[in-house]
Amino acid sequence: MSDAAVKAREAAPTPEAEQELTDGFNLIIDALKLNGLTTIYGVPGIPITDFGRMAQAAGIRVLSFRHEQNAGYAASIAGFLTKKPGICLTVSAPGFLNGLTALAHATTNCFPMILISGSSEREIVDLQQGDYEEMDQLAVAKPLCKAAFRVLHAQDIGIGLARAIRAAVSGRPGGVYLDLPAKLFGQVMNAEAGKKSLVKVIDPAPAQIPAPEAVKRAVDVLKSAKRPLIILGKGAAYAQADDAIRRFVEQTGAPFLPMSMAKGLLPDTHPQCAGAARSTVLAQSDVVMLIGARLNWLLSHGKGKAWGTEPKKFIQIDIEPKEMDSNVEIVAPVVGDIGSCVEALLKEAGNGMPAPPADWIKTVTSKRDENIAKMAPRLMNNNVPMDYHGALGVLRTIVKERPDAILVNEGANTLDLARGIIDMYQPRKRIDVGTWGIMGIGMGYAIAAAIETGKPVLAVEGDSAFGFSGMEIETICRYNLPVCIVIFNNDGIYRGTDVNSVGTDPAPTVFVKGARYDRMIEAFGGVGVNATSPDELKRAVNAAMDSGKPTLINAVLDPAAGSESGRIGNLNPQSKLKKK
Ligand code: ADP
Ligand code: MG
Repeated sequence: MSDAAVKAREAAPTPEAEQELTDGFNLIIDALKLNGLTTIYGVPGIPITDFGRMAQAAGIRVLSFRHEQNAGYAASIAGFLTKKPGICLTVSAPGFLNGLTALAHATTNCFPMILISGSSEREIVDLQQGDYEEMDQLAVAKPLCKAAFRVLHAQDIGIGLARAIRAAVSGRPGGVYLDLPAKLFGQVMNAEAGKKSLVKVIDPAPAQIPAPEAVKRAVDVLKSAKRPLIILGKGAAYAQADDAIRRFVEQTGAPFLPMSMAKGLLPDTHPQCAGAARSTVLAQSDVVMLIGARLNWLLSHGKGKAWGTEPKKFIQIDIEPKEMDSNVEIVAPVVGDIGSCVEALLKEAGNGMPAPPADWIKTVTSKRDENIAKMAPRLMNNNVPMDYHGALGVLRTIVKERPDAILVNEGANTLDLARGIIDMYQPRKRIDVGTWGIMGIGMGYAIAAAIETGKPVLAVEGDSAFGFSGMEIETICRYNLPVCIVIFNNDGIYRGTDVNSVGTDPAPTVFVKGARYDRMIEAFGGVGVNATSPDELKRAVNAAMDSGKPTLINAVLDPAAGSESGRIGNLNPQSKLKKK
């Protein structure tokens, strides 16, 4: 229709039968596409089954999972990898609740995500008259996300999605809930008016420029340091300011410590990397600059034994002003987005950044080199049954040879040891359990990483961790994704050796002995391999990465390998009354 014809129609209202119409289904699809949101992770069902079909027909990539939690984790990490909100689509009540864990996870980890959930009839839900899947989902979601919205009228879909996008990606990113009652999907309205109601969000995450005084204060404190340390967190990885961060870190000459998901922002093999001297730099540094990292439990809250007796001065760069002083005093807070902050710091420092004292650099590098040398022979062992070091030594070399592959990692010992042993070389290539240290992200992350980046994925999983999302290997096979899963199978949680001292049930931490996880993927047409030695493991992983075929490798580990809760056994409360 020509513009003139449209105008004429609008001027003279026509009966509904003669108008060009649209509806909720189409408006949601159009609104997503208008904002470049072209991938949906979800599970179909009432009331969103047709929506999924229509979205696919309209060119949106719709990935159907076996459980909403995994779809949600996929959406959350898609947000981290792309800086656009990852979209998760769920059915009402139980499906919504299944997705909610991931929404809370996204919020906690500062990943942008939108959980879109169908919901039942408002009138019935609010009178608690027992509707199909009745639940006041908006109220349930609110405390677990950054923002929550409900759209009741088709003409508000555009604004509703715009608000959700802005809330997810602006400032500190996080999870947003968007509630779409069943009735909305079928609501009909004039197509032209519908089109006009859509909003293309301009500049959804505006730059937040730091105050010049704050930048100067930070540079002054850093210049005063005798033993400076820079800690890079996953906020720095998220910011995609890789080049500026690298230039800044190199300009300061300071040792840097990458948090788990910031590994590779600068290569772990960079001369300034202090990853292998973590305890030393935490204890002995005098000025610590945090870039997109929080002083939460993962950094012992910035105080206590790990941080030594040296008085510290903290500089913190973060987009969230309330993060400052959350655990210890921050003498130089720099509030803004990391890209803008680091550029401003570079400018302020000019060429005038003094190199850190040579004795500090020597202390750090000699400790690091000593630790690396100590570890090296253990990583080359070819023991059967395998131990963690033998198996991880192989994977370490494979990642070195394939630096653009994405590494997904979860487990207890499998997580803690892999984090330390496997060097990363490129930004945003390591994705793992994050701030909560949760199990269950594995297959959701692997799927989203393959979809969003097109790169091969290596998922290194504890046998227990894998169990939380294992059914998604069918999803991986169905979409034929280049994912290689390696299960570190030590027959149980932490170890497979626990025994029940009083009865015939197995101990709570052990699984079926000698389980063959590799056979699971064969049921769906994938490649399964049972690997009993580091050599076999190496061959199998290389073959999988070369072929790009969905592969699951059951890496048989010594059931006695591994320690309680990996590196965080100290967090377990102990009963003083425990009887042996
Ligand atoms: P890690 O676990 O790696 O230490 P955290 O999740 O604790 O990282 O911290 C990430 C921090 O990064 C959060 O405080 C968050 O507000 C911040 N952040 C996220 N994105 C940006 C950004 N673009 N600019 C500045 N800060 C950011
Ligand atoms: Mg195990």
